[in-house]
Amino acid sequence: MKKESVSLAIFIDALGWEILQSHHFLDEELIHKQDLRTIFGYSATCDPTILTGALPRDHGHFSFYAYDPEHSPFRGSLFIQLMRLVPKALSSRNRVRNIAGRIIKRRLQYTGYFNIYNMPFRLLHLFDYTEKKDLYQKGGINSGLDTIMDYARDNRVDFFLADWKASEVENLASLTQAITDENRNCTFAYLYMASMDAILHQYGKNHQQVTDKIAWYENQLNTLVSTAKEHYKEVRLFIFSDHGMTNVHTDFNLMQLVEDTGLRFGKDYAAVYDSTMARFWFIKGESEAPIRAVLEKIPQGHILSPETLKKWGVDFPGQRYGQLFFLMNPGVLIVPSHMGERTIAGMHGYSPEDKDSTASFSSNVKLETYPKGLEDLYTLFKQEIDRCQTPKM
Ligand SMILES: [Zn+2]
Repeated sequence: MKKESVSLAIFIDALGWEILQSHHFLDEELIHKQDLRTIFGYSATCDPTILTGALPRDHGHFSFYAYDPEHSPFRGSLFIQLMRLVPKALSSRNRVRNIAGRIIKRRLQYTGYFNIYNMPFRLLHLFDYTEKKDLYQKGGINSGLDTIMDYARDNRVDFFLADWKASEVENLASLTQAITDENRNCTFAYLYMASMDAILHQYGKNHQQVTDKIAWYENQLNTLVSTAKEHYKEVRLFIFSDHGMTNVHTDFNLMQLVEDTGLRFGKDYAAVYDSTMARFWFIKGESEAPIRAVLEKIPQGHILSPETLKKWGVDFPGQRYGQLFFLMNPGVLIVPSHMGERTIAGMHGYSPEDKDSTASFSSNVKLETYPKGLEDLYTLFKQEIDRCQTPKM
């Protein structure tokens, strides 16, 4: 006998509205496709918003590094001190950094996504790492907010949660197993797929690899939905992304311009150079004017006003993630940055109002209200979890 209903929430990282519109994708199944407003930041900002329905200032996640020498987990690490002695030609290699990152993560016992990226070993002790815990597990959100997964756990719902450390193929197989298992009545599934993002970073958004990957998803999801339909009377499908992707056309050495002021990093000021924005802290108040003067002369980007930060929900208590934010124009990449030494074909994390940043949402069911932004997905998934529950007497 068929089970009642299952809701499948399929998260395809970086499948933006611009990309979705220019491809055929499950056209017979998805009766509704729309743009979805993203959040300013990276996946580290967007994913907690999807999971909690809260804006960054309320969930406390933004980017991996925040200037906070007092609470830096990297302070006093003998291993990091040793790495500082390794010549840059070696220590800036991705392979070396990945191995070092794994060693540091193990020592710190972090369960979240951990990557030291391109942050120099000599600067690590000035920064806190902001995603220490697994977001999908209880207590994973910095501000202590509950997630949609916590809601499902608290209500003892039989749900499926993909393992973000496993591959897409492995996760698709375990989801198939969960919905075909006769001893289970899985009513809600959350499947996270990361490869689209990696392909878009590597090739940009107009490449055959992108088209091929979308066709692969179409194929896999068609199989998944037909399998689900064999086991459930109703299969409710929701496909969404966290942001889009912008083709990079210009590399910009912002770090050099700031260093040319002669101000000392860690003494006068501190900065995190993410790939599309730089965030500054003024350790000595008088460093602000010369840094502002340099930034104001750069036509490839602009300083974000306090009003904009507030509107985008990134006005953090205590200016946790920076006292001044400088954002590059869409397509301009900071190279080198603390995220990477070299350029890349695609990047996200530009203005959330730019068309290429916009995320996407699609479904095979008619809804009374459709989500407008990432923060609305929480309410939608909560309703999906609720509707499958047997009414309480
Ligand atoms: Zn990405």
